[in-house]
Amino acid sequence: MDLIPSFSVDHTRIIPGIFTSRVDTLGDQMVTTYDVRVTKPNTEPAVDVAAMHSLEHIIATFLRNDPDWKDNIIYWGPMGCLTGFYLILKGNREPKEIYDLILSAFKSVENSADVPGASPVNCGNYLMHNLEMAKWYARRFADYLTENAGNAEIFEYPRSQRLVTEDGRQFFDS
Ligand SMILES: [Zn+2]
Repeated sequence: MDLIPSFSVDHTRIIPGIFTSRVDTLGDQMVTTYDVRVTKPNTEPAVDVAAMHSLEHIIATFLRNDPDWKDNIIYWGPMGCLTGFYLILKGNREPKEIYDLILSAFKSVENSADVPGASPVNCGNYLMHNLEMAKWYARRFADYLTENAGNAEIFEYPRSQRLVTEDGRQFFDS
């Protein structure tokens, strides 16, 4: 029996920011999943789906080419709720330690002349992109991160008890 309380994020209180979602140990490798939350859930509109798709391509390409970080990147991808992204990195760092990386990644979108990989060979829905709108969301989030650099709340999840379904299963969204 699991006696350790299980917690999940309280989506009614989360604000945009960079949070540790979970830490796993795979063999002797620690792996951290970060919640990079771009909009405030259930309060402001979620990210436009085509813009989200373009942000996925541009930022994944940025992260996997960054000389200091590329060997630590396991995964970058959008949340199904379209309010943020998951970033999975080797190791276990505080969210503050990846602040500069995330800020640079979102700032890089502004300089993108096109969406990398937006072709039928490289993408499963290559027409569903919106570079200009992706730039708008990226600029907005980069400005927010800059203004809130000293705000501890953008690095700390508001927690709630994890939901247990009627048949005793615990609810997970990732
Ligand atoms: Zn794609």
